[in-house]
Amino acid sequence: MAAQETVDHKYVYDFAEGNKDLKDLLGGKGANLAEMTNLGLPVPPGFTITTEACKAYLATGREPAGLAGQIEAHLESLERGMGRRLGDAHDPLLVSVRSGAKFSMPGMMETVLNVGLNDRSVVGLAAQAGGNERFAWDSYRRLIQMFGKTVCEVPGEEFEHALDEAKRARGTDNDLDLDADDLRGLVDAYKRIFLKHTGRDFPQEPREQLDLAIRAVFESWNAERAVLYRRQERIPADLGTAVNVVAMVFGNLGPDSGTGVAFTRDPASGAQGIYGDYLANAQGEDVVAGIRNTVPLQELERLDKRSYDELLDIMARLEGHYRDLCDIEFTIERGKLWMLQTRVGKRTAAAAFVIAGQLVDEGLIDLDEALHRVNGAQLAQLMFPRFQLDHDFEPVARGVGASPGAASGRVVFTSARAVELAGEGEAVILVRRETNPDDLNGMIAAKGILTSRGGKTSHAAVVARGMGKTCVSGADEIDVNVPAKRFTVAGQTVNEGDVVSIDGTTGKVYLGEVPVTPSEVVRYFEGTLDPDEADDALVKAVHRIMTHADATRRLAVRANADTGADAARARRFGAQGIGLCRTEHMFLGDRRELVERLILARTDTERSDALAALLPLQRDDFVEIFREMAGLPVTVRLIDPPLHEFLPPLEQLAVDVAVAQERGEDVAKEEALLAAVRRMHEENPMLGLRGVRLGLVIPGLFAMQVRAIAEAAVRVTRDGGSACPEIMVPLVGAVQELETVRAEAERIIAEVVGDSGVEVLIGTMIEVPRAALTAGQIAEAAQFFSFGTNDLTQMGWGFSRDDVEGAFFWRYLELGIFGISPFESIDRDGVGRLVRIAAEEGRAARPGLKLGVCGEHGGDPESVHFFHSVGLDYVSCSPFRVPVARLEAGRAAVETVGSDSR
Ligand code: ADP
Ligand code: MG
Ligand code: MG
Repeated sequence: MAAQETVDHKYVYDFAEGNKDLKDLLGGKGANLAEMTNLGLPVPPGFTITTEACKAYLATGREPAGLAGQIEAHLESLERGMGRRLGDAHDPLLVSVRSGAKFSMPGMMETVLNVGLNDRSVVGLAAQAGGNERFAWDSYRRLIQMFGKTVCEVPGEEFEHALDEAKRARGTDNDLDLDADDLRGLVDAYKRIFLKHTGRDFPQEPREQLDLAIRAVFESWNAERAVLYRRQERIPADLGTAVNVVAMVFGNLGPDSGTGVAFTRDPASGAQGIYGDYLANAQGEDVVAGIRNTVPLQELERLDKRSYDELLDIMARLEGHYRDLCDIEFTIERGKLWMLQTRVGKRTAAAAFVIAGQLVDEGLIDLDEALHRVNGAQLAQLMFPRFQLDHDFEPVARGVGASPGAASGRVVFTSARAVELAGEGEAVILVRRETNPDDLNGMIAAKGILTSRGGKTSHAAVVARGMGKTCVSGADEIDVNVPAKRFTVAGQTVNEGDVVSIDGTTGKVYLGEVPVTPSEVVRYFEGTLDPDEADDALVKAVHRIMTHADATRRLAVRANADTGADAARARRFGAQGIGLCRTEHMFLGDRRELVERLILARTDTERSDALAALLPLQRDDFVEIFREMAGLPVTVRLIDPPLHEFLPPLEQLAVDVAVAQERGEDVAKEEALLAAVRRMHEENPMLGLRGVRLGLVIPGLFAMQVRAIAEAAVRVTRDGGSACPEIMVPLVGAVQELETVRAEAERIIAEVVGDSGVEVLIGTMIEVPRAALTAGQIAEAAQFFSFGTNDLTQMGWGFSRDDVEGAFFWRYLELGIFGISPFESIDRDGVGRLVRIAAEEGRAARPGLKLGVCGEHGGDPESVHFFHSVGLDYVSCSPFRVPVARLEAGRAAVETVGSDSR
């Protein structure tokens, strides 16, 4: 509406006119100054220029019409109220000019204090302060310094050097030892610096100082650092900043004055108490700059008991009012306390939980609000073990923090050795150039995984994240030599059995053992730490909030788990079933040979022999999982990847065959294998012979799996247990595909189940866009849908996940095409729309159709909220993410009800 701006548009608000809910218009600082003013707290008077004025300025390059007049009017009223005029030669009013956007943002112009001082008013200020010349000249030199640096971009070091010079001349390193003459000299030096860098004299006209400072705040919104910060923190670029003009109060008037910062609780642990720093005889910027040593806030009690008591009283009021941890900036001028800022304070993940719990106890918030105030990312942080880096450990290499956590252990280079050593009770770190599906057992056995190649989306990274296992990938300074069982890094050799430590959060690699603290929160989830007995405020708070999340959420949470051990872990973490049990791994390891026989079969008999040999092995796998899940639903996905993934890689096989032929060995079998690999080679395997297509092309393959599932369920039930299998057909795009598989499956199930009472559901994944768009038809043949959002994203965007993340996602992120990878958090507008359509049309065709999601998005906080909003029944994610999904599902439920009262 910039075109319609009129002189009437209100661009300036007195503190008495605003309140804390006007952050969009007044910025956080301005809104909270207004709130404190209206609470009757001692806030120096002032006014706020709105973010709209800033936006109008940035759009046109000049102050919007009417702004100058409104500033004039508010300034006059401020002057009347204070009985002083800005920069008056005898009795000057001084102001601070402070930026303040909706979100606190480093990188923007901060603050200029003492605006209004010049060569004449500095004399008046001294007189006003009872002849305190030192104070007046100290204030003046601060103005030139801050104004020069933030408004005119004069390099800050030049002022620092001049100050150091003055102290050296006086033979001191404490600026309090500088007297009025020293400071007068310093003002001259500062003015020369100012002139040198700006080509003009320091502006003497108070109103010009004010206008230039306001304009500099506006422009700082687009400073490079601010732009980068916003991009990184995903803060919208068009909010603009407000400007606060505040009457100065002086903490540098003598020992009975000072300035400080405080928190109403410990922002690190959440503990109650008094946390803050105080600095006598100083202006605000000294505290942050660390120029002089502050004293703990408790000292103020001794220095100035009255102000101290008043401050504690105000902090209690602010907490009661904001119903949260607040942080505070204040100044004491000759024994009189002034509040200069407050806001709801930042805190660590642990403090977030602890404080939310405390506030419930204190009756300030209810449990819904407590749930709203914590989040899954914080919970995830609390679930990782941490290195205690209190000694100086120097990293020897740095890779990508691919899967967070901290792990130390003996280096091994093969999966087999990892399993062997782990079996002897050793902690091991599996080190590879890169991992592949054959390393799975070693990865399971290892404490951590270290690779010298690959990024956040490499096999190692993705699998490790899925397992909740620490992984550093792509540490390319490391030179791995697997046959020699060693790696070299930074001129050192590390042999098998040597100990290394890896930090999957930072990507750092250390030689030797760095001590690790396990996560208390995980011990609680695993049931080895009783929250009632723990004397740990954090565990108690987590327990309480999780209990409430579970009671509140509508979404069920299942886990993706392929083995009995995973299933057991998932249950401990609160999974209400398995949403994705992949069957691929059941074709690996020592079963490869059977798979080769299956693929190479030339006759029906050979093929059915191979399948018959696989059947009991698969059945045993399922028995184990069904037992662990004791009556909870288990969704088993029929085999999905192309079969050649189970054969040796083409190049390697070709070389082996050639070498063997050269030696005159009998290579008939290898040659057949090689021919099969060549035959099955695909240009685009992701779009090739996989999923349901495989089941339709290879007779008996799905039938064997269905039989194994049904037989396992019957066995568990006959043994007195209970099993609820749900058979899931992958990659369906047309209802006819599903119908064909289903007809055969139902025949087998009926035959196996008999009168055992076992019920087996048959459903499908929705992961091909066509399936989403024909969901109404597909629902006729499906008892449930499970959204495979990894493939749906891949095919929805036409991105090959394995290639694009490393190749060009950085550019897309930079251009803002998306703010986060659509593989990490669901793309609501596109892929999400497919989910929504399929959910609606599927349910219209089959009321009560069970809907879930089993892609990695199931454990992503943002995505969980989306799945809640489209009405899915459950999300499924890796076991380690289950608590995160439970928490976020609870938050989604309370947020829909609309309890956001902050
Ligand atoms: P930041 O956003 O970087 O904290 P502020 O605008 O809060 O910047 O200013 C920093 C410090 O400057 C404040 O904490 C306070 O100590 C001091 N300050 C700001 N305005 C005034 C004022 N009107 N009177 C006295 N000190 C002030
Ligand atoms: Mg501040
Ligand atoms: Mg898939």
